[in-house]
Amino acid sequence: MVYVEDGGFVTPGQPICVAEEYYPGLNTKIFRDNVVISTKAGFVNYDRSKRIVNIKPVKSLKDINLGDRVLAEVKDVQEKIAIVEILAVNMKPLKHKRTAVILPNIKTKQDLTECIGVGDLVIAEVVTLFSGVIGLSIWKNELGSVLPICSKCGRPLRRKDKTLICFKCGNKEKRKLAYIGVASLDKWLLGKSLPG
Ligand SMILES: [Zn+2]
Repeated sequence: MVYVEDGGFVTPGQPICVAEEYYPGLNTKIFRDNVVISTKAGFVNYDRSKRIVNIKPVKSLKDINLGDRVLAEVKDVQEKIAIVEILAVNMKPLKHKRTAVILPNIKTKQDLTECIGVGDLVIAEVVTLFSGVIGLSIWKNELGSVLPICSKCGRPLRRKDKTLICFKCGNKEKRKLAYIGVASLDKWLLGKSLPG
């Protein structure tokens, strides 16, 4: 019996198959009743010729730690979660972009679609790394959207009084803005300080 299909994602301790089907290989072990379980978070790989099952662990997170500040581009926003791609960590650009999730504010339970938008650049803090998933927060003053993008026409939104307005199409939107200066944003984007 096989509980997880080939290529499926598992977390530590999750049953994968019975040992009669596949023997435990890398990052797996036999638990009770001859059930093979994973010992690491990763992707299931059945080796049919050798009849063993391996877990390919998710890439190590050695370049990202709890408390790090990241610059990320927003890819998808739903009421309770947003998907982003991390571009830089602690002002250093990443060689390979990493996918992460922005978590909602537990206290205010504010709808995330009123706080960030697709295409925005945001500065966020790493608050969880559970099972290889990078969880981010944008709820401190200095965190949030630094380059809000109009959801209708894709141009940058500008601040006018207390709202954000698109000077091209007139669209008005809401954001949780990060209170940082332009110089600080330049540092993020360039990965180094500007001269002078
Ligand atoms: Zn617009």
